[in-house]
Amino acid sequence: MMDYQVVICGAGPIGLLLGNLLAKENIKTLIIEKKLESDQHSKAIGITPPSLGILKKIKLDNLFIQQGVKINQVWIHGSKYQLGSLTFRNIKSEFQFILSLPQIQTEKNLEDHLRNQGNIKILRNSELIDITPMDQGIEITIIDHNHSQTQHLKTSYLVACDGGKSSVRNLLKIVNPGNPYQDTFLMGDFFDSTSFQQEAHLFFTSLGSVESFPLPAGKRRWIIQTDQYRTENDLQDHFLIDEIQKRTNIRLNPSDQMNENPFGVQHYLNSNYFKDRVIFCGDSAHTMSPIGGQGMNTGFADADLLAMILSYFLKESSYQPQLLKRYEKYRKKAAQAATFRAWSSMRIGTVKGKFQSFFRNLLLFAVLNLPLKAILPAYFSMINIPFGQSDLLLQKDLLLKNLIE
Ligand SMILES: Cc1cc2nc3c(=O)[nH]c(=O)nc-3n(C[C@H](O)[C@H](O)[C@H](O)COP(=O)(O)OP(=O)(O)OC[C@H]3O[C@@H](n4cnc5c(N)ncnc54)[C@H](O)[C@@H]3O)c2cc1C
Repeated sequence: MMDYQVVICGAGPIGLLLGNLLAKENIKTLIIEKKLESDQHSKAIGITPPSLGILKKIKLDNLFIQQGVKINQVWIHGSKYQLGSLTFRNIKSEFQFILSLPQIQTEKNLEDHLRNQGNIKILRNSELIDITPMDQGIEITIIDHNHSQTQHLKTSYLVACDGGKSSVRNLLKIVNPGNPYQDTFLMGDFFDSTSFQQEAHLFFTSLGSVESFPLPAGKRRWIIQTDQYRTENDLQDHFLIDEIQKRTNIRLNPSDQMNENPFGVQHYLNSNYFKDRVIFCGDSAHTMSPIGGQGMNTGFADADLLAMILSYFLKESSYQPQLLKRYEKYRKKAAQAATFRAWSSMRIGTVKGKFQSFFRNLLLFAVLNLPLKAILPAYFSMINIPFGQSDLLLQKDLLLKNLIE
């Protein structure tokens, strides 16, 4: 007898979204999370149109849109001149914008919504430490840090949504090839004193890149490329503000600054997306450069397809590994495409030096002022990621469609 139909390890955005999608199908699910509270660090902000389509399935799209800022225009600048702009207003989607909402609010919305659903439980301050395969299921071992107790639970399926340093991946010895990139960045959120309003602005300068995105509640995120990973201790006062001024001529007010975080970037992709009844979803399967804003959105689409497959297995009492093979094939291709897009955006933006930057900007000016520009909004809004949207995928893959619809 199983305790749960599905256990999800990790209550980051992907585990919480998957929990919501399974709750909609009334699947008995447990989410275990080692932290007592959500991570307070600023991470993802950009939610793409396909992700909003997934949130619509659980009736959360309107709440997210009310809370977020709709970015429908991006301006691209060189060291001295404006190079051009992109608009999402004409993309083929119900949502013709990228929504900016801090990841912490995304997680709160998903967790609040889950707490109103039956058949689903979240255990915080509880850590998965071991996995034992069983006939038709898995036994997991959890440490409940609230009561310093070890617990054993049986589940039909375990989904690892435990992030880039996945402990489930380590326990199963799944290979996760990839590398850190050399690039480093520093970001800070400010009360917005500019007149940019809902627009995003990207500055590609000979001294390095600066990216600027609106946040809700009259705030704005600034991200600069740095020459090395700088911890708080190495930062001189106002380093971020001074660098932004040097590169863009915009002087931000130190009293408007709310936080500052350095980050490095990397890319990793699992060799396998499942082993028997343990399945990987989100950053536990793929990590990509956050410059490009695609990591969480790729994980959302993983969760969407996986929820359909798990619902089919559990409703039909039929475990069919060939469906997980399809999940692995499609979601790996989507992650590879997103990783490439994130990498190429980062490479273009981070070209430094007078000559190199001049030629990069000449090329960008040409692209942004030729008809070719029309393909870029679909590219950056992820609406044309290969196999990126489950609904479109089902129209192409009839086996998957016949089985899970
Ligand atoms: C600076 C920055 C900016 C970013 N911007 C964007 C963006 O704009 N758009 C975008 O799409 N993506 C962006 N990303 C990427 C995005 O943040 C990640 O892709 C996303 O957090 C992945 O979610 P996840 O749920 O897979 O993993 P995580 O968010 O890492 O969550 C994993 C959870 O599992 C828990 N856990 C781990 N091990 C265990 C265990 N053994 N037992 C129980 N719980 C466990 C962890 O505590 C954690 O809460 C950005 C990332 C960074 C760093």
